[in-house]
Amino acid sequence: MNADCLFCKIAAKQIPSKIIYEDPDVFAFEDISPQAPTHILLCPRKHFVSLDDATPEDQAVIGKLHLVAAHLARERNLLAGYRTVFNNGAGAGQSVSHLHLHLLGGRQFRWPPG
Ligand code: 5GP
Ligand code: ZN
Repeated sequence: MNADCLFCKIAAKQIPSKIIYEDPDVFAFEDISPQAPTHILLCPRKHFVSLDDATPEDQAVIGKLHLVAAHLARERNLLAGYRTVFNNGAGAGQSVSHLHLHLLGGRQFRWPPG
């Protein structure tokens, strides 16, 4: 845990959030400012900032984030499709420095993203 990290504090339940999935590797919670009817953030429990900081030991959890996202998308009946996104670095819009996978669904998405 990084004592200065918002998402580590959410994992430790020091900051309240709507946690919807937890296991020993991963936790997921509702985004506070949803950009779609479903907007969930999925994080590794291990603190690292972005894919740029990931190491080979993080390979499994990065894959697991996607499989948990697919599980939650099925639970939410996102039958028309959903989007999974990592923003890596400020230039891509990353604002919280703990890797997180956005799961967005429940509306039509455009491509390319903004
Ligand atoms: P980023 O911009 O880093 O890709 O995504 C960060 C996300 O975290 C944003 O979608 C933002 O709404 C969400 N967020 C920021 N602070 C909080 C918070 O305190 N609680 C929750 N649940 N989400 C947050
Ligand atoms: Zn953290």
